[in-house]
Amino acid sequence: MKSLLRLGLALVVLCFGAAGPAPALLVRAGTTPDRLASLLISIWPEYDRPEVLFVYRGELAAGTALPARITFRLPVEPTFAAGIDEEEGVHGLRPAIVRDGSGVLVTCETSWPRFQLEYYHDALEKGGPARRLAFVYRADYAIDELTLEVREPFGVADLALTPPATIQSQAEGGLTEHRRLVGPVARGDEVRWQISYTKRDPRLVSEALDLPASAPVRYDEAPASSVPRREAGERATRALLGLGGVALAGALGLWLRGRPASSARVSAPAEGHAPASRAGGRGTLREGRLARYCHWCGASFFRDALYCRKCGTPRRGSQQPRRSRARRR
Ligand SMILES: [Zn+2]
Repeated sequence: MKSLLRLGLALVVLCFGAAGPAPALLVRAGTTPDRLASLLISIWPEYDRPEVLFVYRGELAAGTALPARITFRLPVEPTFAAGIDEEEGVHGLRPAIVRDGSGVLVTCETSWPRFQLEYYHDALEKGGPARRLAFVYRADYAIDELTLEVREPFGVADLALTPPATIQSQAEGGLTEHRRLVGPVARGDEVRWQISYTKRDPRLVSEALDLPASAPVRYDEAPASSVPRREAGERATRALLGLGGVALAGALGLWLRGRPASSARVSAPAEGHAPASRAGGRGTLREGRLARYCHWCGASFFRDALYCRKCGTPRRGSQQPRRSRARRR
């Protein structure tokens, strides 16, 4: 048994060595782009928490070599980070977080040209029913097309924006969405948006519209790569082929079984080598409070989905184990 394990280990070392650099090296191998094709920043005050939900959706400039390392300065740690592939598949990313003055520098390596970051920030000034948000975005990159967007909170009739929005549209629950097309910005440019409104109905959008309570999957507990089943299967096949054939699978399986679960997690590459990362990828779903439709794009969810298959947004009401108590305020 012991010698079998050693054989398996040797094979694994051999094949990983032949297949390319170690995962740790891959993390450093990404290119650092200097521009983005587009960035949409969505600002949702009092949506499903009393704070403001910020969602960044970006796309790398055409021709950016992948994987690419992207860095954003945020006021707080993100609650979600993902790369989005051409077929709208969502790939959870685990960003590196570095303190930077009053905020954090969030660095993700993405193998896909589109990405998404989310965070909640206590950015509202509240004086009785009066609310004010002075949003400042300091461009992390040169961006060809920057767009800002505010979704109205529930029960608000007097939302004022300075400067005014370019376009208005209807979002879920008949709430108005205000979009401002900023256009191209240079790295370091500051874009400001003053948002003010009066809110006498204390309910959050999620309460008023009876949406599930917020429990987005945290990046550090999200599956390393959450891909549709079919794609995950192909990926697994590819990974096995890369390891030198199906014969190795048995030895690898034995070896993996012998390893402590924690070390398997830590050393698992960010994506690819699907079996190890996929095993912990399903998470758990709280039945009964799951969103049936994506709050972002309206697509219906598959029964056990953690993310929208169409746009990649985390499903409201879904959560990973251990998450709810740790983060509930
Ligand atoms: Zn969606």
